[in-house]
Amino acid sequence: MLSGTGYLFESEKKFASYKYKIGDPDWGEILLKMRVSTICGSDLHTYLGHRTMPTPINLGHEGIGTIEKIGNGVEYDAVGNELSEGDAILFLPYIWCNRCYYCLRGDKTNCQNRRSIGSIPFNSEKPIPTGTFSEYLMLPKGTEFIKVGEKNPDFLALGPINCSLSTMIHAFSDRLPKVSGKNVAVIGAGALGLYSAAIANYSGADKVIVVDKNQERLELSKKFGATDLVNTSNMAMEQLHTEIIEISEGRGVDVVTDVAGYPPLAEEGIKSLDKGGIFLEIGTIFPAKINNIQLDDFVKKGIELSGLRTYEIRHLLGAYNFYSKTHDRYPFKAITGKSFTYSSINEAFNVAKDGAYVRVGLVNQ
Ligand SMILES: [Zn+2]
Ligand SMILES: [Zn+2]
Repeated sequence: MLSGTGYLFESEKKFASYKYKIGDPDWGEILLKMRVSTICGSDLHTYLGHRTMPTPINLGHEGIGTIEKIGNGVEYDAVGNELSEGDAILFLPYIWCNRCYYCLRGDKTNCQNRRSIGSIPFNSEKPIPTGTFSEYLMLPKGTEFIKVGEKNPDFLALGPINCSLSTMIHAFSDRLPKVSGKNVAVIGAGALGLYSAAIANYSGADKVIVVDKNQERLELSKKFGATDLVNTSNMAMEQLHTEIIEISEGRGVDVVTDVAGYPPLAEEGIKSLDKGGIFLEIGTIFPAKINNIQLDDFVKKGIELSGLRTYEIRHLLGAYNFYSKTHDRYPFKAITGKSFTYSSINEAFNVAKDGAYVRVGLVNQ
């Protein structure tokens, strides 16, 4: 029986610690020791009250842990690697039902009965940690995961691979056309935006235009492959599409990934598309609408509007492979610009909410 501390989000920007005892994993479960958990934008939306969830809740889904104990019935990771205690694990925070209409048609990210680590209702009668903001995490039966191959994994660099990088791999591998030789605009230079720039750059895009109002983040995006930067803090919003079209030799861009989730910027992004271009919305997780979409542009320019959320295990594997191939080329670790110990979670969120760092990490020592 192990003892651990978890951190429950209560309300009004406050986490409270709780103690628990955790026994051996049941059949199909794995007990993980969390090593790093990063604070995702969606955790911040809950913290700031933009998204309501039943409280108290054990938030946290973006992170990496090492195996403490393996339950019976678990022999391999998702790609057949054998497992031992101490192995580092990247796990899919979504558990699909595999039975609903969407799962059966192969569209698991729309599963109607999805359970998500970090948003499972907390049972105070049986306080088992259900999110990564906890020293230990019992991965429920059915959780898909991959073993991290490196000897000494860089936990802070690997933390946001689960969630942000995996979501962008989903976008570029399944939703967007090939971008080699094409122009890509990325709206928002947070973690999703930086990864978007890196994937576009690695895939041979011509222009990778990154848009943000924060110059520091824009400068960082250059290290992730941005070729052109647009700072919106000193321009009229309605100028943005003109600026993007100008950078892309007067034609506009073939792909826009909008990870900022701010409707006026999204509207400009759609106006920036070249003929046949595609606009992909990823950043918006609470109700928002664009008022001024020019419907006839879809016909005259043949443009597309798309969106996605979350990812499947193959995208997590793709994200880890992308990281393994490119971590010397792009400064993954710079994304988690600041870290705290788990016990300083309130301070960590307080810093994260101000946006000075792309990601703030929690380290389990
Ligand atoms: Zn997330
Ligand atoms: Zn399902």
